[in-house]
Parts: sequence; C-alpha cells; structure tokens
Amino acid sequence: MEKRTVWQARRYLQQAAGAARELIYPRRCPVCDRPVHPAGALICPACEKTLQRVAPPVCLRCGRPIRDLNTGHLCPDCLRIPHVYDRGCAVFVYHSVSGGLFRFKYEGRREYGAFYGKCMADRLRTFCAELDAAKGIRRSYRGPAGTAGRDPVSAGPGSGRMADRASGGMDPRAFFDMLVPVPVSPGRLRQRGYNQALILAQEVSRRTGIPVREDVLYRVSDTRPMKNMGPEERQNNLKKAFQCHGNDVELNSIMLIDDIYTTGATVDACARALYRQGARRVCFLTLAIGDGGQEAE
Ligand SMILES: [Zn+2]
Ligand SMILES: [Zn+2]
Repeated sequence: MEKRTVWQARRYLQQAAGAARELIYPRRCPVCDRPVHPAGALICPACEKTLQRVAPPVCLRCGRPIRDLNTGHLCPDCLRIPHVYDRGCAVFVYHSVSGGLFRFKYEGRREYGAFYGKCMADRLRTFCAELDAAKGIRRSYRGPAGTAGRDPVSAGPGSGRMADRASGGMDPRAFFDMLVPVPVSPGRLRQRGYNQALILAQEVSRRTGIPVREDVLYRVSDTRPMKNMGPEERQNNLKKAFQCHGNDVELNSIMLIDDIYTTGATVDACARALYRQGARRVCFLTLAIGDGGQEAE
C-alpha cells in the first residue's frame, strides 16, 4: 500500500476508535471525575459552578487576582520580580481546579483537555480585547479569510470593543502568530506519556485558528522539581533550561501555553529563550494561577 493510504487508513481507525471509546467510556467530568451529566457536555453544569474564575481586579503583568489594592496595578510578586515576559492571563484560581489538574497531568485524564482548552480559548479572546483596549499590541493585521484585512487595532477608536460586543471577542489571530506549549523534559515525557501543555495548546488552536508550534522551544536539562523552592531558587534552577530552535520566532508575537503559573520562573525562562531568538512579544495563557501559596509549577 502507498504511504498516504496507510496514513489515511490509520487516521480513520483512530477516529473510529475515539468514537467507540466515547460510547464505552463516556467523557469524565474534570471536577467530579464521573461521567459528565448530561452526556455530551464537557463538564457537569453543577460542577462548573464550583470552579473559581480569575476575576478583576488583577495584576496588570501576571493576571493574578490582587487582594490588596494598596499595591496598585501590580501584585506583590510582580513588584518584587522584574519579569521577562510581556503580560499574561489565566482562567481559574489554582485551588479551585487543583484536583482535576492533578488527574489531567499525572493520571492520564487527557479528556479534561477539551473543557480546559475551551475555557482557555474563551479567555484568550477576552485577553485580546483587553490588549486592544490598552493598545498593548499593534501589528499589521493580515486578517482571517472574510475580514478583508481590516485592522481591529487601528480601525478607529473603540472599534475593537465594538467588534468584541458584536462577535463575542476579538479574533486572537490578529494578536498572536503562534501558540507555543511549555515543553517538558524528555525524561518526564517518557514518564507521563504526554505533555499536558501541548494538549491544551492543541485545543486552543482548534478553537482560535492560531497554529501550535511545539518545535520551536525545547527543554535542555531535567530540572529538579520546584514544589518547595522559593522564587529566586526557581529562577536559578531554570537558567538555560530552555532553548529555541532556528529563527522561526523572529519578529513573531508568541503566546506561551501552560497548565499553571506559580512564580513565573518557567514562563520567564521560556520567554528569555524566545526573545533571544528575536521574538517580538511573548505573553502567556495558563489554565490556573496561584493566589499566593506555593503550588507545584
Ligand atoms: Zn461533575
Ligand atoms: Zn503579578
């Protein structure tokens, strides 16, 4: 058989297997881990209510909820540590999603990625509207098919927010050229069998049309687990942990994708590698963000 036919046959088999799996093993809920009720949904509506979304006021740099407004627009962390990345956002407060995140990462519950990725894609749209309102990112807008290259940033005052109201969010392709999942080390990939950040990035990509590039960033060394490390120790542990391939990121606006943001050491180390290769802007989008405690990064 020709190579292409083999490839196609394999894809059909995979799709059929996926559909059969859904029938035999119904999708599980990221909160209660029981089959989702009602069937066909990504999460039980009652369970979704237990998740705590990040709500304003948030830190203008890392997107963490700000408890004490006396610190101004930045959280105490960002006042202390000068970050490398430009700006970022997250969907959920860590403690409300930690159980599901653990199963997603360590116990093979990849199926949660569908719900998590949907939430992240939604957050990415509102994040782009925020950037637009702040005129944070200006880029020449190539535009998706059908919008005739209209530039949502320079189309006129307030036009972005109007587009936001009309379509339920900005087109994120106007703001980001690629989604780059934070890579895991080859050792950890063997252990877990998959990179949870890549699963999230693929789901966000499917919903926004921004391509995933998992080939531009790679992890050089197996770093020590950082669960009990302070911010400075984390920064040192990750120095030179990431490297960037080739010059594909040059002048590109990049959205880093990961499951959790804790001190920002991981995102900073990735951003450093990407900026070194000429990236124009590096932001991040994570599923969860810590609200001050020391979560595992
Ligand atoms: Zn549930
Ligand atoms: Zn912050």
